[in-house]
Amino acid sequence: MPEMSTTTRAYVGLGSNIESPGAQLGRALEALAALPHTRILARSSFYRTAPVGFGDQPDFVNAVVLVDTSLSAHALLAALLAIERAQGRVRGMPNGPRTLDLDILLYDDLVLRDSELTLPHPRMHERAFVLVPLAELAPDLVVPGRGVVRELAWRSAAHQMVERIDADSLA
Ligand code: ADP
Ligand code: MG
Repeated sequence: MPEMSTTTRAYVGLGSNIESPGAQLGRALEALAALPHTRILARSSFYRTAPVGFGDQPDFVNAVVLVDTSLSAHALLAALLAIERAQGRVRGMPNGPRTLDLDILLYDDLVLRDSELTLPHPRMHERAFVLVPLAELAPDLVVPGRGVVRELAWRSAAHQMVERIDADSLA
């Protein structure tokens, strides 16, 4: 009997807007690569993006990675929150400045909502800072219940500043 695959493809969104955002994302990528039972398969470019919600704060740097993991969705979330804490994340106001934000955007096509985790990520379908980097990796991907990434990205990018940056130029 063929062995069943127990790994999952998950997309993780990264964001930072204080304390050297580009370096924060670089460290987060190293931490993700070091997670047990998890491999990074692809990563998007880095993007400079305007803050959403609360405008009076620095621009963000955002990126998206595709991982292959045998961690459960909840175990992956716990690992991401631990990486945020290790990089000095303090939970202040919603949509406020942060050293590092790591979100599970999609975990295969799992649809789930409990007190800790909502999948797909509940706001990803309207956020250009998620959709534009995600479209670099998976333009044809369907966000369950929301539509195709390429089209969602086009729609959202009409209203929100998202600019691809050269990773070498990051401070
Ligand atoms: P946001 O990312 O929307 O700015 P936070 O990073 O402060 O908000 O996350 C708050 C909580 O959101 C986390 O503690 C986590 O339990 C919950 N959460 C629910 N769904 C997800 C998801 N798909 N990815 C990451 N966190 C999630
Ligand atoms: Mg988050």
